[in-house]
Amino acid sequence: MAKIHNLGFPRIGANRELKFALEKYWKGESSQSELTELAAGLRQKHWQQQSGLDLTPVGDFSFYDQVLDTSFTLGNIPARVEGLAGDELDNYFRVARGRSANDSGCHCVHAGEMTKWFDTNYHYIVPEFTADTRFELNPERLLAQLTEAKAQGVAAKPVLIGPVTYLWLGKEKDNSNKLDLLDQLLPVYGQLLALLADNGGEWVQIDEPILVTELSAEWQQALSKAYQTLNKGQVKLLLATYFGELKENLSLAVNLQVQGLHFDAVRGRNEVDAVIAALPADKVLSLGVINGRNIWKTDLNAVLNWLEPIARDVGERLWVAPSCSLLHVPVDLNSEQKLDDEIQSWLAFALQKLDELAVLARALNQGRDAVFAELAANQAAIDSRRQSRRVNNPDVQAAVAAINPQLGQRQNPYADRIAKQTAHLNLPAFPTTTIGSFPQTADIRQTRLKFKKGELDQATYVSQMKQEIARAVREQEALDLDVLVHGEAERNDMVEYFGEQLDGYAFSQFGWVQSYGSRCVKPPILFGDISRPAAMTVAWTQYAQSLTAKPMKGMLTGPVTILNWSFVRDDQPRSVSCYQLALAIRAEVLDLEKAGVKVIQIDEAALREGLPLRRSEWQDYLSWAVESFRITANGVADETQIHTHMCYSEFNDIIASIADMDADVITIETSRSDMELLDAFDNFKYPNEIGPGVYDIHSPNIPTEAQMVKLMQQAAKRIPAERLWVNPDCGLKTRQWAEVVPALQNMVAAAKTLRAN
Ligand code: GLN
Ligand code: ZN
Repeated sequence: MAKIHNLGFPRIGANRELKFALEKYWKGESSQSELTELAAGLRQKHWQQQSGLDLTPVGDFSFYDQVLDTSFTLGNIPARVEGLAGDELDNYFRVARGRSANDSGCHCVHAGEMTKWFDTNYHYIVPEFTADTRFELNPERLLAQLTEAKAQGVAAKPVLIGPVTYLWLGKEKDNSNKLDLLDQLLPVYGQLLALLADNGGEWVQIDEPILVTELSAEWQQALSKAYQTLNKGQVKLLLATYFGELKENLSLAVNLQVQGLHFDAVRGRNEVDAVIAALPADKVLSLGVINGRNIWKTDLNAVLNWLEPIARDVGERLWVAPSCSLLHVPVDLNSEQKLDDEIQSWLAFALQKLDELAVLARALNQGRDAVFAELAANQAAIDSRRQSRRVNNPDVQAAVAAINPQLGQRQNPYADRIAKQTAHLNLPAFPTTTIGSFPQTADIRQTRLKFKKGELDQATYVSQMKQEIARAVREQEALDLDVLVHGEAERNDMVEYFGEQLDGYAFSQFGWVQSYGSRCVKPPILFGDISRPAAMTVAWTQYAQSLTAKPMKGMLTGPVTILNWSFVRDDQPRSVSCYQLALAIRAEVLDLEKAGVKVIQIDEAALREGLPLRRSEWQDYLSWAVESFRITANGVADETQIHTHMCYSEFNDIIASIADMDADVITIETSRSDMELLDAFDNFKYPNEIGPGVYDIHSPNIPTEAQMVKLMQQAAKRIPAERLWVNPDCGLKTRQWAEVVPALQNMVAAAKTLRAN
């Protein structure tokens, strides 16, 4: 009998209950006991929803982040919160976000650094290490949840982050080597496992997803050593890997001294046979056959076709699960009221994925006839999606097939173009611009919301948005900026805005996925071949241009960013979806040019985050990502200036690809790094123009003229002054006008000072 289990469940709640409870608590509007009661209620509900499983994850619930939970369980708590008032939860939130509910007014400590969890859009709080780090077991949270689960009759499987992955995720704050901490970390894990055993945990899931990345020999040895040490037989360990193939770590992974291995059979489908062949015959094999990273229904018959023979061979030792924790998908498709019925029939969120798992188990254990109706319904949905005319657009497919290198090629090299652009645009040295958005005031949000709800007619909406654009233009003229923007008042989000106007995109109402802490994102669903029925930005930009004699930048989101921030199709390579987006946005670029727009910015904020986990796969990704950008941008005349923007500053390892994009101007985030990060451009001899951000828009502080002059002087040591622009780090939509105006005044003054020298 194959068993079914789950690796983790979304904790934010189908209606984001946890988000709202946290935010209320942080504001001091509710008590700690109200918060903990809500959390217990959510856990209970989620366990009930998983009651069809043979084993249910426990300990996957978190108030903020599971990595931060692990740091607290291991007693690795930054010294800066020691001795502060309050209890452990206060300190937990201090590390998470800089303050607890009781720290009124002040930011008393700095929050832990946050970074992406592997290649997901989930962000964790980075563990901090020094040579002096000491661990001390603090098991209360986990034990309490285990006791709670047992009392509710849950078939509990505690879930932990493994010791080696935990070290790998953290950062040394001195020059020590965090791997040196392993020896004193392992006894603490040993104590924890013993306690879990005493409290009735039979199986413990221990996650070591670093096994899908390229590991040095040191890290590989650390894994071997860890499980040699921990294998005391008190509990059975299910070692979980996910998010990719094991490749050169396969033999290491199957031979670690644990009682079972979970393997991602969605991303690692091609390795399943090799894993089975290599896995010692006494170990449990858990196959993650349902995609925990996407929202499509599983083709159950197709899975059964390959899984049934495996189930016969592996027998009792086979477990079946989602590929990874369901943290990365929304909770319940049945909440959706407005999705088109046909599209909804193709989808599965967390609860529906668990239903699929139950159907698979019955098919494996009792034969497909036992779930005849379920399989037939699933097949009908799979067929409908495959054949739908809304998914397949022959014109789009033909256009992608016809893509040739010419399409991504500007007419002339940068050196020729820039001369023509300079004449055409008549810009001073150190030209000033902004990244696109201006403050999204309460008024603007209200107006958009009312329009969306149908409470405001089209004409009124357009006229109110035009007033906002006019205000942004007025402010920019008064500031004497050189290249203006319309301010993006009409955009709620830089991806959703375009998705809503493209064919092939759908939007959920409740498809929230945790991004970090209480923050969630609702990725749009790219379900079909992408096309652009009509121009998307031209009217707004044209109106903005009509108000000023200065150049107005057209403002678009690039194909790679749209792709990386969406749930995308699993029936074709990501690259193909990206090329389709590229062709659609290219059409918009050409329409803007035709409308007289001389400068067009194509934001690629998420280009870097699409990098695969393994470096050996970077080149492939970068080549189609860059080609997609080039197709989007490069159909314009020499005189039209293409800008791109990226909100980060680590370019060292991708600088050749960035140069290959061949944007005339790139604006990046650098204000916090003293311009040292421009070294990558300097060393590479990056040829085109650069706008290194001089104004940190994430902070309410107003930068002074002198600070910005100094930053630009540092920039000019690395990049010839004639190729430098002066601009903020990113868009200004989260700021207030009262902050933006003086900051930009200082920025323009800085540019003028630089010109005078
Ligand atoms: N043009 C966008 C804005 O200014 C860019 C945002 C981003 O890069 N994240 O808001
Ligand atoms: Zn940005």
